[in-house]
Amino acid sequence: MSDIRLVNLTKTYGEGNAVSEINLNIGEGEFFSLLGPSGCGKSTTLRMVAGFIKPSSGRILIGSDDVTGLPPEKRDIGIVFQNYAIFPHMNVAENIAFGLKLRKRGREEIARRVTEALKQVGLAGYGERYQRQLSGGEQQRVALARVLVTEPRILLLDEPLSALDKGLREEMKFWIKDLQKKLGITTVYVTHDQDEALTMSDRIGVMQKSRIIQIGTPQEIYERPKTLFVTSFIGHSNILDVTVRGRHGDDVTVDLAGRELRARAADGVAPGGAAKLVVRPENVLLGGAVGERDMRLDATVLSETYQGAIVRYRLQVGAQEIVAERQNQAHVERFAPGTVVTIGWDPEWSEALVA
Ligand code: ADP
Ligand code: MG
Repeated sequence: MSDIRLVNLTKTYGEGNAVSEINLNIGEGEFFSLLGPSGCGKSTTLRMVAGFIKPSSGRILIGSDDVTGLPPEKRDIGIVFQNYAIFPHMNVAENIAFGLKLRKRGREEIARRVTEALKQVGLAGYGERYQRQLSGGEQQRVALARVLVTEPRILLLDEPLSALDKGLREEMKFWIKDLQKKLGITTVYVTHDQDEALTMSDRIGVMQKSRIIQIGTPQEIYERPKTLFVTSFIGHSNILDVTVRGRHGDDVTVDLAGRELRARAADGVAPGGAAKLVVRPENVLLGGAVGERDMRLDATVLSETYQGAIVRYRLQVGAQEIVAERQNQAHVERFAPGTVVTIGWDPEWSEALVA
């Protein structure tokens, strides 16, 4: 059974839709991310789930209850925003106790649960501190503790790490993920950061212009993007112009600079037309690394860039450029600019998309 169900959820402002017909089932204990560029409708979606924004149409179910018409406080959700809203005039313990006091819990219960919540977020002993005595990461942990202490059924997080610097963000993303798994709390996480979404999520919904255009596990989203938008939004890819020769079920043959290549095919890729062939730089093999069953091409090395852990090659095939990235390991073969090398890839790791 799913914990959150969105049915044709839509929000219209004036002429345009901020959110268009979202249909989504989120499972119990799942970490689900809404990923997309600024303005695509992530926060509006989350705030409709929270109850702060009234949908123009569609329904929201939590468990088997239709909560579409319920106010936020009746929805059993906790929400954390980008700018850790903790009260500066209250110390940490008072901040965390706030929600419990609203719920008229007894003094002893409050004290016990505040101590527990502080432990949960790794801030045991911080109860007496004030906001100005906390780092950004600590403040965000307090904001999280303040929400978790009320034991909500659902946790909603809207870009909770984007105000933190890079190092802290890295650390916090693993920390939040671990805490979420430990608590088993159904979580919807909003972010424009693909690394966060890939690292933290059980599944990701990629949004573009008010719609969810692809839902999948991080691996599915990264390895099998269904559209050019998803491809270019998640990681780097070679996006090559090809002509489609034939289609055989989920495979196609395409022509790239006079070579026939096999590739996987997305919906809508049809023989006779133009398509884009997508191959990730880490899947472009060079020289002796190209295997028997890989697609093969001759390429001219345009440049070799040493980047420490990775060596990056720009290669020319016909009139097009292909980027290859290799792990810089012991005994790895290097290729000098100007030389012609065999390059190739496993056809299962290349995808033809509608141009
Ligand atoms: P995201 O969180 O993905 O950056 P939002 O959900 O905040 O995007 O916004 C989605 C779209 O809806 C944007 O184009 C935004 O300008 C518009 N929008 C959001 N809130 C309002 C509002 N109160 N009035 C009018 N337009 C809004
Ligand atoms: Mg937003």
